Amino acid sequence: MIPGARLIILGRQGAGKGTQCVRLSRHYVVPHISTGDMLRAAVRERAELGLMAKEIMDAGGLVGDDIMIGIIGARLQRADAETRGFILDGFPRTVTQAEALDKITVDRPLHIAVDLDVPREVVLARLSARRVCRDCGTNYTATGMERQPWICEVCGGDVMQRGDDTPDAVNRRLDLYETQTAPLIQHFGSQDRLVVVDGVGHPDDVFRRLTTVIDDSQ
Ligand code: ADP
Ligand code: ZN
Repeated sequence: MIPGARLIILGRQGAGKGTQCVRLSRHYVVPHISTGDMLRAAVRERAELGLMAKEIMDAGGLVGDDIMIGIIGARLQRADAETRGFILDGFPRTVTQAEALDKITVDRPLHIAVDLDVPREVVLARLSARRVCRDCGTNYTATGMERQPWICEVCGGDVMQRGDDTPDAVNRRLDLYETQTAPLIQHFGSQDRLVVVDGVGHPDDVFRRLTTVIDDSQ
């Protein structure tokens, strides 16, 4: 068991980052910091940030770099992240964000960036079946046989399709991933901080692959 971890998980939408990050966060006892979850919480709470971000998110666009860098800068200063570390999910998403993160973490650099690799065809199929609890964020896979309204087994909240999991928004997000986020793989790769992990297969197998490379990086 390692005394904390400072990780970034990259990967296409639907690669399983959310599920794996929750497990990694328990395993290494570090906070899972998901910018998507933070933005969705702000939308639910009708916070100023949420009002601004909702339209962009529903259209499958990216929220501005300055805003995102501000949110993450503040979050990483909190005690849990300072002492234990962090698993960043959804940030950085652009090279500008990655450069800002390098500055924010200059005293405590990242251990590694993991690219959870799943081909585009596979994630397209996963995303069209994805349903999410609007209260606790638990993910489900729709079979079409569910009773409506669909109630979350974990918290009793409503299980729904995300506003940005419609086919148009999904395609837009995947295109943005190729143009804006894929260059990050180069950014971290050129600094020798990138490990590619195959994200296809049973979640338990993917989890074992992840802990193996993370333990090796410490
Ligand atoms: P996904 O990876 O499935 O697109 P997320 O839950 O990570 O979903 O993010 C949902 C949406 O929140 C994104 O499509 C984008 O609009 C916004 N978002 C999240 N993180 C960032 C970020 N680092 N920079 C800009 N926008 C972001
Ligand atoms: Zn729930």
